[in-house]
Amino acid sequence: MHYTRQKVSRLLTLLMLATITEEECWEIFRRSRFGDEAEFACPECKVVDKHGFIKTRRQWTCKNCDYRFSVTSGTAFHHRKLSFKKLLIILLSFINAAQGANANFLPSQLGITYKTGFLNYGKIREVIFETMNHEPLTGIVHTDCLHICGKPRRSNVRKSSDSFVINNKLRARKDGIVPDQKTHPEPWNLEKLKNRRIVLVMSQLALNDDGAYGSNRTITYIIRSEKSQVILPLINKAVSNDAIVMSDFGSAFNMITPALGLTHLRVNHSVQYQDELGVNNNQAESFFSRIRRAEYGTYNGISKNYLAFYAAEFAYRNDSKYEGVNERFDNLLTRILKREPSKAFCGYSQGNRLGFEYCHE
Ligand SMILES: [Zn+2]
Repeated sequence: MHYTRQKVSRLLTLLMLATITEEECWEIFRRSRFGDEAEFACPECKVVDKHGFIKTRRQWTCKNCDYRFSVTSGTAFHHRKLSFKKLLIILLSFINAAQGANANFLPSQLGITYKTGFLNYGKIREVIFETMNHEPLTGIVHTDCLHICGKPRRSNVRKSSDSFVINNKLRARKDGIVPDQKTHPEPWNLEKLKNRRIVLVMSQLALNDDGAYGSNRTITYIIRSEKSQVILPLINKAVSNDAIVMSDFGSAFNMITPALGLTHLRVNHSVQYQDELGVNNNQAESFFSRIRRAEYGTYNGISKNYLAFYAAEFAYRNDSKYEGVNERFDNLLTRILKREPSKAFCGYSQGNRLGFEYCHE
């Protein structure tokens, strides 16, 4: 059964959040951040004390430094404009959207603008990206590269006879980041191709409760070109020394055993998807299948500036799929309230943008 249809996915619903009071929603935030102790740390000076509570403003004044703070001060939801209820609904709708959460859904549901919805979803994705578990993967690890963003458009002149050319324009993304003049000659496509990025995924294989193999932990990186010198240090960082790495015959993976000393098995994708010994990299392929469908179907394109966040989002969706909705909700809210204000989306409405890309050269 798909995880969204299981009973544990129905224990917390949008309807439940919509029917509780704003006070109760605030209480969910407060408990998630400060717990049930009367004493907790001031976000400014970190001194643990019983800080003075101003009930009417739902704020505290630090006993040590007089800093006045709310339940979201200094967290990823710093400077929030929305009510606690709307934030919780945004969070739950994000968690429940198995195929990706498009903020277009939010204006009609919550009466907020698209931009507000987008930046709040963005803050959640950024937290997921920043708190990704980078402990080295063990056992069998499937790896692969996905070329994404910068999708070329069909040319003005229809070349019906040349299916190879059309196929290249629409599907093949494997040209180098310096575009091939023969397959993508139009100036606008040459510009678009500069936005192409590559997602490197490493996915750890695990035996599920139902006896089938799936993946239970995923690490993603964004890279600019599929080259050994970029990929090898990342694999070295993300994979434990005793792991078995499985990949296809992509030339960037050639040096895994000679350079890193890892056991490396490969499947030749021009012949088969799994060889006689069971070697495959299907967990990496299915991860890419989900993010590609979201790119086309849910998001209608992903900006390269936020690609690292979207890749982390799909890693999170994969890795948390066997948790119940309550567990996922509590876990993600705690992660949000433990992070500092968002780099990419704090002040987004005032025109602040992330001045760099999370991308390995
Ligand atoms: Zn203080």
